[in-house]
Order: sequence, then structure tokens, then C-alpha cells
Amino acid sequence: MRTTGYTECLTSQYIEWGLDAKQKSIMKGFLEERPSGISHSYSVNFYDVVPDDEGTTYLSLGGGEGGDCQYNSNWPDFCPEPMPADYLFLENHFRRTFGMDINFDYYRLDISYADTFGAPTLIDNSYYRFGSRSDFIQGFPEHTIIHYALQTWSGLPVSDMTGGGRVCEVSYEPFNSLGAVTYSHEWGHTWGLPHPFYPDENNQRILIQFDGIMSNTYFGSTALLDPLDPMERYALEPSDGYLHAESFASDYSNGIIDSWQMDICVLVDPAIVGGEAVAETSDEVTVALELSNQGGILAGYVDLAAYDGISMDAPIEERTLWTLASGEQTMHAFTVANSSITSGALLFVIDPQDEIAENEDNNKILLVEDEGWHVLGNAEIAFLFDRGEYIQVYYDIEGEYPALKLRH
Ligand SMILES: [Zn+2]
Repeated sequence: MRTTGYTECLTSQYIEWGLDAKQKSIMKGFLEERPSGISHSYSVNFYDVVPDDEGTTYLSLGGGEGGDCQYNSNWPDFCPEPMPADYLFLENHFRRTFGMDINFDYYRLDISYADTFGAPTLIDNSYYRFGSRSDFIQGFPEHTIIHYALQTWSGLPVSDMTGGGRVCEVSYEPFNSLGAVTYSHEWGHTWGLPHPFYPDENNQRILIQFDGIMSNTYFGSTALLDPLDPMERYALEPSDGYLHAESFASDYSNGIIDSWQMDICVLVDPAIVGGEAVAETSDEVTVALELSNQGGILAGYVDLAAYDGISMDAPIEERTLWTLASGEQTMHAFTVANSSITSGALLFVIDPQDEIAENEDNNKILLVEDEGWHVLGNAEIAFLFDRGEYIQVYYDIEGEYPALKLRH
């Protein structure tokens, strides 16, 4: 997420969700759908299932049909002006949400609902319910969108026929935002995406994603117009990449930070706060590094590298720390072979590639070899010069600037 350009506080939150076994297993349900097998010019069959039974009403979604879209003040771009909310309107919504050139191939299917699903049952004298649709949907290719256009049966409403598995079935219409986001949600299920929430002991839903399609209709949205969240986007990424991908991660991050989903963007601050050589042999030296995260939220996947001298061109060794909890101070042992140190100085750096947005002033510690290894702390190092044949270190102790020229 970090290298894709999502802001660190979003990345931290996903890492934190991944620490809990239950939450991690749900996250895996998303991530293991990658690769999706989609390429970004993708054609989808769209079947408009229109009833020809007596005494029914319907709203079909052929070109120019569907009724006018409804303005949504939270999403001005959803329906900037009244226009027919037909299958093409929904196609446009899908292109925006999925970041692909999705093409709907529209087919109108006039059928008798009673012959196909059996006569409906009247429930509570207030609505009708049809029986199983599983035989009917067998015949459609995977990822097909099926719109049940039926509105009323004998003057009464018909119960919801929405669902997502191999195919996407929806009995809502895309003219309003609830209808439109139901399509993206159910279509997500056809790609194997699960729900990103689970019930806690009080049966309250715990959500483990920021705004994404798989929480649609279960949780409120943000001002971002029905986006994929980072997990969904990773899972569905087309083999040839997303369209208009450059600014997605930063726009998404800003949209979340400005929403009810994140109170405040809390920063992380991985740091090396101390260290000492704890074991020295003729072959190697082991340094115990005191690491901390002085930020307000967990930092994950933090790189830690050791260098020969102060040049950070090529590390002797680099490793990745899985997590550093906020406020945590931890000891990390790092052993380096003497044969890989030729300069007389050993530099340790946390987040050496500056991948994490954080305070960079507390990321280094330098040890020099002078009858044993000694630490020059961050604060003490005033100037470092690489002279080629030797490294000159000036360090500041109580306002003075003694110079130490390191041996080769
Ligand atoms: Zn669902």
C-alpha cells in the first residue's frame, strides 16, 4: 500500500487489522482472489429480465429507459443533471468504480416469471415472493449481470431478488445511489470478494476496510464515489493495470481522511533511540539496537539496514520488521561480519529508503571502531565526511566539536 501511494495512516490501519486472526482471515479472503484474470477492456453480459406475465409492471434498463437518475448531494458527480439511468448509465458508474473500460453487452429477455420461477407466494397480504432462481441462473456465463425488471405483481411489490455468487442478480435500478452501489457490490461477489465485516459478541458489525464496494448497503459511504478500497483494488487489478491510476491512491487517502471513517490521520515515527555493541569476536560484532515507534499508531513493514561506513549505497544487510507498536520500545540484535566492515564505522538506519512518511531525524545510529565498537548517537554527530581512504567524524559533545579520524 505504501509503495502504491496510500497515506501512511491508512496503511497502518490495514496492518493493524491484519494482526487479529479473525480480521486477517477476512483480509486473506480478498487478497487471495488476485490475480483476478481481468484485463481492463472487459465485456460483461447484461441481461434485462422483463416480465410478460399478465398484471405486472416493470422498469427495464434498455437505452434511454430506466427513468431519470436522482441527484445526490454527497456525490454530485453521480448524477450531475437528470439523464436516463439505463444500462449505459450503470456502465459509466462501473467504469468509474472499477477503473477499467468495462463494456456492457445488453440483452433484453422477455419471459414469464411465473413459468420460470413458479407462481409467486403472497406474503402477509402485502407482497409476493418467488421461489428458487438457481436453475434459471445456471445458463448464464460467470460475472453476468441480471437485472430483474419486475416491479409489481397484481398491484403488490415483489420481494428482493438480489444476490451475488457466480453471477450478479439485482432487482434494484441504478437511478439512485442505493441501486447503483448494489450492482457494484454484487458484481464484486462474482469475483469471489467476501464481506469485509463480522459480528462481535454484541452482534455489532465490525468493519475492516475503508470505503469499498463490499461494505456497500451495510455501512454508509464517504464522498468518494463508490471506490474500490485498497484490498479490493489489489485483488481485482487488471493484468494490464488500472486506467487513470496515477492519482488514485492519494485521492482515495485524502477522501478517507476527510470522512467519518477516520477521525484524524495519526502519524508513525519509527526510530533508533539507542544501541550498544553487546558481543564482539574476531569474526563478528553484535549490536543491540533500541528501536521505538514514537508515533501514535502502529508502524508495519519497517526496513532496517546496516551499512559499512556512512555511505548508504549498498547495505551489508537489510531486514524488515513486521510491526512496531505505538509507544513500544524494543531491543533488536543485529550481527554483522567483521569482513564486511572496511571503513571502521558501522551505520544502522531504520526506513533507509524513506518509504514511510515520518520524522527522519531519529533514524540513524553510528558506531565507530576504536579498540572496540562505540556508539556515536544521533544527537552527537555533527558532521560526517567521506574522505575515500578514511571517514572523518566530527561529533558534538557539550558544544565542542572533537574530530575523530577513523582508521582503515
Ligand atoms: Zn454481499
